Amino acid sequence: MSPQDNQQAEPARCDLLLTGGTVLTLDEDQPVIESGFVAVDGDRIAGVGHGQEARSFEADRTISCQGKVVMPGLIDCHNHLYQSLGRTLGECLTGWEWLSQFMWPYSAAISQQETAASVYLGALEAVLAGTTTVLDHHYGRDDYDTTVMVAGILEEVGLRGRIARGMTGTRTAVSQQQKLPETSFQRSADEELAITEACIRSRPKGSRIEICPGPMNAAYTNVDLIAASVEQARSHGVAWHTHLSAPRDDPEVFKQQHGSRPATWLHRNGLLGPDAILAHATWVDDEEIEALGDTRSAVAHCPLSNFYMPYGVMPLHDLVDAGAAVGLGSDGSCCGHRQDLFENMRLMVLMHRLNTLDPRASRAEEALRVATRGGAAVHGIEAGVLAEGALADIVVVDTTRPHFAPMHDPVAAMVYTARGTDVEMNIVGGEIIVEGGRSTRVDQDAVVSEALARAGELAERINAR
Ligand SMILES: [Zn+2]
Repeated sequence: MSPQDNQQAEPARCDLLLTGGTVLTLDEDQPVIESGFVAVDGDRIAGVGHGQEARSFEADRTISCQGKVVMPGLIDCHNHLYQSLGRTLGECLTGWEWLSQFMWPYSAAISQQETAASVYLGALEAVLAGTTTVLDHHYGRDDYDTTVMVAGILEEVGLRGRIARGMTGTRTAVSQQQKLPETSFQRSADEELAITEACIRSRPKGSRIEICPGPMNAAYTNVDLIAASVEQARSHGVAWHTHLSAPRDDPEVFKQQHGSRPATWLHRNGLLGPDAILAHATWVDDEEIEALGDTRSAVAHCPLSNFYMPYGVMPLHDLVDAGAAVGLGSDGSCCGHRQDLFENMRLMVLMHRLNTLDPRASRAEEALRVATRGGAAVHGIEAGVLAEGALADIVVVDTTRPHFAPMHDPVAAMVYTARGTDVEMNIVGGEIIVEGGRSTRVDQDAVVSEALARAGELAERINAR
């Protein structure tokens, strides 16, 4: 409602009013509001505007955000939260070595209790760093009970989003050639699909944490299982997720087996579309970019892990210009190390500048848009923007700290200066899940203690393999 309409009217009741902050709306009509307000009612935003207009609302609770930035929550489009207990391990391995000598042995060794400890830790870190929505590509201990347990943990910590259940199926020629451990390829395609089917039914479309199919990787997962996963996703109206051509060799490896590059193959088989969420897409040629764009497929850009592994530079602008939806992904803690999309925003800009030696190749505003509106488009949710009617997924960043002085440009400050640890408040669906930099939903000291208690033994077991 506009203030003119409301000058004489009774104030509208709402649950929560955030006042006095610098509001980054990500709304083209009024992108930055100095000393603005955001009103929240139920799980939606009831109003956004300039200071005095806040009088048109009467809230159960009003929080002063003076000296702070209020912005949409950050949206993660690719993660593996069960990897948190393994971070800092697996140094200096090439892509296939990293998978065969470290990641798959870790995934085969992890118990259900260790998975819980790891996911609690990763999810806690994510919400403390301003993430409101996550796509968790869950594998490792991925039986029905554990997968549903992981969904419960994400919900308990306060996130929204989806789990893509990682499916390996039986060993393919590529997984054999690359020495991926046999222990990770124990189930038939039918068994994989049956477990995923049960998981989807327990967390159907519309759940705060949905479950959907996540065949592991276009390069080494059986393509019939990939096609069946897409069919399964479509029969339930949910998305599907996989790794696509992260390292440079993947397209050639796929082509030797199937006669075309992976995204081209997916396109020819009718598997692309807005329901396809593809992680990395680092090495896609012009034909693949066109296919991803024409079909409005979604891509998760993972700058930090693309640096770390190192995979290379995703053709961000070509994909966006072609029509693909692009959001940011933290990737798992074993190759992203921290749950911090602020860091990924910064690295996104720096990656594209360094790659082109052009300071205009990317800018702070673009990174912030990809991390919010872009991610919302990938997930298909009405979030990523502070506007009336949008989901009330909101983050408050404390900009009174020394590294924010001076804040000439709040958008640049959020991308170049801010760290996840600067987040003071995280609101998902209108509920405050982090306040004063601490979780309101879980005992965070207990989460960290439990993770520490379990991590050492798990690391030892992997080394023994
Ligand atoms: Zn990944």
